[in-house]
This record gives sequence, C-alpha cells and structure tokens, in this order.
Amino acid sequence: MDRNLLLYNSLKRTKQLFKPLHEGHVGMYVCGPTVYGDAHLGHARPAITFDILFRYLKHLGYKVRYVRNITDVGHLEHDADSGEDKIAKKARLEQLEPMEVVQLYLNRYHHDMEALNVLPPSIEPHASGHIIEQIEYIKKILDAGYAYESEGSVYFDVEKYNRDHKYGILSGRNIEDMLNTTRALDGQEEKRNPLDFALWKKASPEHIMHWPSPWSEGFPGWHLECSTMGEKYLGETFDIHGGGLDLMFPHHECEIAQSVAAQGHPAVNYWIHNNMITIEGKKMGKSYNNFITLEQFFNGDHPLLTQAYSPMVIRFFILQAQYRSTVDFSNEALQAAEKALQKMLDIYRRLQNLTPAEKSTVELPDFMTQAYEAMDDDLNTPMVIAVLFEAGKIINSAFDGNVKLSAGDIEKLRKLFDTFLIDLLGMKVGSEEGASNMKPFEGAVDLLMDIRKNAKEQKDWATSDLIRDQLAALGFNVKDTKQGVEWSLK
Ligand code: ZN
Repeated sequence: MDRNLLLYNSLKRTKQLFKPLHEGHVGMYVCGPTVYGDAHLGHARPAITFDILFRYLKHLGYKVRYVRNITDVGHLEHDADSGEDKIAKKARLEQLEPMEVVQLYLNRYHHDMEALNVLPPSIEPHASGHIIEQIEYIKKILDAGYAYESEGSVYFDVEKYNRDHKYGILSGRNIEDMLNTTRALDGQEEKRNPLDFALWKKASPEHIMHWPSPWSEGFPGWHLECSTMGEKYLGETFDIHGGGLDLMFPHHECEIAQSVAAQGHPAVNYWIHNNMITIEGKKMGKSYNNFITLEQFFNGDHPLLTQAYSPMVIRFFILQAQYRSTVDFSNEALQAAEKALQKMLDIYRRLQNLTPAEKSTVELPDFMTQAYEAMDDDLNTPMVIAVLFEAGKIINSAFDGNVKLSAGDIEKLRKLFDTFLIDLLGMKVGSEEGASNMKPFEGAVDLLMDIRKNAKEQKDWATSDLIRDQLAALGFNVKDTKQGVEWSLK
C-alpha cells in the first residue's frame, strides 16, 4: 500500500490530482457526531470543512454521494473498549430512553448545522440501525483470521494484522513504539494485546443497549460502524473519507485495518482531515472550563464570551483558515471576523446597487481564475476570501464614484461573488435569507428608502423619521451618506 496515496494530500491541486473511482461520481464518507450532548466548535469545523468540499465537488460537476453517520451506540466513556456507553449514561442521568437522547441531540445538531448553512448529507445512517451489517462484517474479519472471540466479545488482532499488513500506516505510528507505551487497562485481560480493539462487546448486566449476536448479547465496537456503513452505501472502495484530525488515530487507523482484514484491500482512496480548534490557546474540553456550545456562541451566554456571534460569523471565522491549519478562538479574533464579514457583506450589497457606465475606467483582473485556483489549491478558503476583498476594492471605488464599471464588468463581479461567496463558501446574506430570496426583500426596503427620500425633499420630516425609526426597530441600520442612503441589517 502506498502511504503517499493514503496521506490525504491528494486534494492539493484538486482538479489535476483528484481522480474519482467512477467517472463523474464521488463517494464521500465523513465521521459524524456522537449525539449525547449539544454541538460545539469541534462539531462545526469538520461539518463546515466537508460542506465546502461537498459544495465544490458538486460545483465541478460531480454527482456526490455524501454519507455522514450518526454514532448512537458503542461510544464508551473511558476509551473505545471500556466504560459506560455515553448515550446510555446520558439517558440514565436524564431519565430518558437512549433513543430519546439520540433524537433530542440530533434535532439540535441539525438545527445548529442549518444555522451554519451546512448542507445536509445525502445519507445520514445510524449505527444502531446497522447492527446486522456490523455482525456480518465481524464474521468476515473472523473468517480471515484477524479477530478472535474472548468471553463473548470479539477483538481485532492488531499484532497478527501488523505481521501481514502494516498497522499505523495513516498516522505513521510504529506499532513497536505503541506496544511500549500502551498500558494494559484493568478488566481488559480478555484481550491478547492492549492494542487490540473490540469489534463486539458482551454487554454487562447494567448495559441497556444490546443486541443478540453469535457471540453474546452485546453491542458493536465504535470503529466498526464506519467501515460497515461506508461499504454498505459507497461500496467496497470509495473516494474520500474525512473527519477531524483527532480521529486519525486510532479510529481511522482501525477502520483501515478492518477493511483490509475483511475485504483484502483498503476501502478509502483519499483521506482528508481537518485540523483542530483551540480556545484561547487551550484544547477545548470540559476539564478546561472552556467548553462552549454552538448555541452559546449564537446567544452569547457563556462566561468566556463578551457578546453573541451569529452563525455566519462562526462560519466565516472558520473559513478564514485553511482546513489543515489550527484555529484559535478568542473574542478578539471573532470580533475581527465579524468586522471582516460585515465589510464583505457591504461589498456584496453595493455590488447589487452599482449603476453601469458605458465603459469601465479600470481593467478587471481575472478574479474568477484566481478564486478557482485558490479552491484547487487544497481548498484554500482564506485565499478565496482575499480574492473577494481585492475585487471589493474596485467595487467600493465604483460605489464611491471614483471609477466606472461597464454592465459586463459588473456582471462578471456579480458572478464572482454569487459563485464563491454565496454558493461555495456558503455565506448567507441578510440574517435569515439566502441571496436568492433577498431580491424582493431588498426591493421593498429600497422602496421605503425612496419614499423617505421624497418625504425629505418635501420637508415631511415626520414621515422620514417614522420610516427610519421603524426600520431601526426592526433591526436595520439606515445611514445617510454623501452618495445617498445606505442600509444594512444590524
Ligand atoms: Zn468514523
């Protein structure tokens, strides 16, 4: 197996290097959330990263089947193989059915993703809905000799697998080093080796989520669901598998081992990992007291937040970094993102209101090609944003009357912003509505502005003030400038 091929570097120069297995079609699998709590920034980054890739591949003309799973069983408290099931624990604490917990947090997750303008995947399969398939997958691994049964549980034999294939190929870890650094956990004597991971776990009497199997009444190991559902919906080999960098080891490494053991070959052609998010330089986690949910970002209700941040500010902030670099959240950084986004939206709005001249007095650089090149350069979203701001300088200058733009050039710029800002970066214009729905709404506000202008000309201050004040009460900023009236949503 060529490690370079695996090493998720293939999106560098997307169009040149990316070769889908089936012409015109792309299969993409991304590890989704374990739904036992509110979504936080750690959920937002992979969702947004792969949303950009999903949008771009579709834009390039591929038919994309995007599978993002829901982990609703087998994600345990301590590590992959021990402790209480996280969902069962939450159900016990909140006195709910486990599936009630799953539905509750899945609904909230969907709500947050919609706010972030993350497109829904093509298929969102639940691990608990694929127990039979997972049992069949375990049988294949057992038949191939890379798993063993022990006390009603089934474990993957990492040492044996490593003798025939290489374990650790994706993360570049060396199994000998790992053997020296892993300690045996209490109560895990069932395993031959501490590195072995559970494919099936026998349920202890207090474990409430369990299913019958040839080995015991129990439940599947966490790593198994992605191999199984990936194969079921995308085939034995598929194009792209994504997730957060924290999943590369052991989760994705185990997935590779499972598919090579069961199928005789790896399932995934290109691995892509987004980097992690820190909060004021620290890893995000309950123990650091810096665990901020998306909902708290949206309403500002957390001691670390000095204000609320709209979902689009969070999205824009994440896109200001390339997906492989780390992102550090702070109030200052978010406020800077908020300002930058406001500038970008002002540019977009001014672009809609430019009056064309007979001839342009500036030569437009080929912004479109520059923006495509940035997307092809491993989804370089900060570069796309920089190109849009460059174009914005010309738009602002035309709006101020310093340069003139022809109808053709204005059209080019509108296409640039509609393609990259709206369709590919997925920014919503206005607080709730997408750009396509904005036109009648903008027209209505412009009409009010015209009525106000007439009122002012006739010195009807009462009507003029009434319109301004009522719009302000509805959340609009109305500004009188030298060029006329400018309005925006607060
Ligand atoms: Zn997964």
